[in-house]
Amino acid sequence: MEHEPAVEVAGLVKRYGTRPAKTAVDGLDLTVLRGTVTAVLGPNGAGKTTTVEVCEGFRRPDAGTVRVLGLDPLRDAAALRPRIGVMLQSGGVYPGARAQEMLRHTARLHADPLDVDMLVERLGLDACGRTAYRRLSGGQQQRLALAMAVVGRPELVFLDEPTAGLDPQARRATWDLVRELRADGVSVVLTTHFMDEAEQLADHVAIIDGGRVIAEGSPARLCRGGAENSLRFGGRPGLDLETLLKALPPDSVAVEPSPGSYRVQGDVGPQLLATVASWCAQHGVMPDSITVERRTLEDVFLELTGKELRG
Ligand code: ATP
Repeated sequence: MEHEPAVEVAGLVKRYGTRPAKTAVDGLDLTVLRGTVTAVLGPNGAGKTTTVEVCEGFRRPDAGTVRVLGLDPLRDAAALRPRIGVMLQSGGVYPGARAQEMLRHTARLHADPLDVDMLVERLGLDACGRTAYRRLSGGQQQRLALAMAVVGRPELVFLDEPTAGLDPQARRATWDLVRELRADGVSVVLTTHFMDEAEQLADHVAIIDGGRVIAEGSPARLCRGGAENSLRFGGRPGLDLETLLKALPPDSVAVEPSPGSYRVQGDVGPQLLATVASWCAQHGVMPDSITVERRTLEDVFLELTGKELRG
């Protein structure tokens, strides 16, 4: 049904091995609305790929429910396969197959495929023509995998780290393609370690750690919550910050971390900016720069998941 979410995961648990079993996904809930791009972020080993693989029907959950386009990814695999596109982190392709032949072959398996020549051009695959998959560069393999995932005009696409290892041009081409998919009403789930990619592309971000969603929302909402933003300005060293603090709302902070460089923290908005500007005017200070620093998704990610390296 059209109004059903593209993906609905509730209480998903997935363990690997026995004695002792490793719990990769530990009670995860995730809803992906139709026609949106959802980015799944998380440190290495957080359970992103496992979650996506369960949704793709490649793994059987140990507990919880998963519905993809309203169907069960395992039981209804045959009905789902032509409706979803999957780009895996690696593999999934016969290594001896020639790049473009494989793409054309995949296109022929679908009722209403995209124009292969257009995809080849868009993703810069023309040079790969008759080259065997295993002889393509890592970036070319990635782009071919992306083309194969979308050529069937799927309703829903899963992209696992689609731009890992890509050069900046290919990265931009991939972003443009994802934006177009979204504009065509395709639902997209992508995992990524690039926070700027999530900020650029995603309507909704889910941050996963320890096999659970620990925060979610639009990138803007995630960046707004929590710690405050700051305003920086440069001026002559040794300004009297006591008088600035008196002019600012209570709980604001004004410091000079290095001579002539000032930082104001608090509820950074038009009012605070006006207060700082008028204080500068009163004290004959002409700032050589004023910048508002907002938290980035990377700041939020590191605040939530910590800075220790993961296995
Ligand atoms: P990354 O960012 O490194 O790709 P991820 O968030 O995608 O990580 P998963 O690949 O889902 O994480 O792995 C989650 C946990 O499950 C990890 O501890 C991993 O070692 C473990 N794991 C994943 N696949 C298997 C497997 N086939 N057998 C055993 N353990 C596995």
